[in-house]
Amino acid sequence: MKRAIFPGSFDPFTIGHYSIVKRSLSLFDEVIIAVGINQTKKPQFTIEQRKDIIGQAFSQEMRVKIMEYNCLTVDFALEQKADYILRGLRSVSDFEYERTVADANKRLTGIETVMLFTDTQYSFVSSTVVRDLIAYGKDISDFLPPNVKI
Ligand code: ADP
Repeated sequence: MKRAIFPGSFDPFTIGHYSIVKRSLSLFDEVIIAVGINQTKKPQFTIEQRKDIIGQAFSQEMRVKIMEYNCLTVDFALEQKADYILRGLRSVSDFEYERTVADANKRLTGIETVMLFTDTQYSFVSSTVVRDLIAYGKDISDFLPPNVKI
């Protein structure tokens, strides 16, 4: 059984995140979307709202689980008996950051990080853009996964 965790702040979960998880289901038997609550930045959406949005997106997908965590990501991966950490890459700056973290995680625990490149149509989508659009009262439905209402 190949299990991965997909950790992030998901503030909120976007169509970019959704696309990464959907595509990863051809690689993994189970994907745990792990919503981090130990963030230094104050989130706009509560942990319950963030989990609810993800739940709406994957209500028909039994192989996707949603959990919250409040510890080091690798410790959470070990606790869940996951052998892989899934991440998405949009840009060179994502790459530099992700590579450093992945190296550290591998050194600490042996857990491999699997990175998928963003689907190019979503390369500009980020939680930050969605939060900005909300602040100015704009329609964000194109930035959210299908079947999600905020
Ligand atoms: P974090 O705060 O841990 O970076 P995010 O919620 O911002 O959490 O992102 C979680 C993961 O999703 C990261 O690997 C990020 O690079 C990836 N990601 C975010 N937006 C996109 C997108 N549009 N396409 C592909 N991957 C993305």
